Amino acid sequence: MPTPERSPVLVSACLLGRACRYDGRHNKDGELERALAARGLDAVPFCPEEEGGLGTPRPAAWIETGSAAAVCDGEARMVTESGADVTAGFLAGARKALETCRANGIERAFLKERSPSCGVRNTHVAGKLVEGPGVTAELLGRAGIEIEGVEGRRD
Ligand code: SF4
Repeated sequence: MPTPERSPVLVSACLLGRACRYDGRHNKDGELERALAARGLDAVPFCPEEEGGLGTPRPAAWIETGSAAAVCDGEARMVTESGADVTAGFLAGARKALETCRANGIERAFLKERSPSCGVRNTHVAGKLVEGPGVTAELLGRAGIEIEGVEGRRD
């Protein structure tokens, strides 16, 4: 009997246990990993902020004003808590996420909620949690990638 084909999906690396959060921690979600495996989905770990050259650990950052859409359109900035402009790194990471999807035939992404990059339903603007996506989720969504927000947990 032929082996069923497995589909690759992009997954926020911190959800798979990589200590790539801004504070050097992770959000490993064993339940997510088991659910993906049971559905025949191969997780491709990706951290847009590391891939964008922001380093780990790194200062907390957020959308300065407006939305991730405005950042993607060049109309708003990403800033750290001390006001440094980190827009270029966030955009570079988001673009690399999309390149990774295209290079691997990935059409779905499971992304960590509340992140300024990966948040799907919620992200941070001016240091506050608000409705709306982060920069990577915005860019992937624009490109037609199906995105799903994951809360993440420790286990
Ligand atoms: S939420 Fe996204 S950007 Fe933040 S650590 Fe996880 S993978 Fe990296």
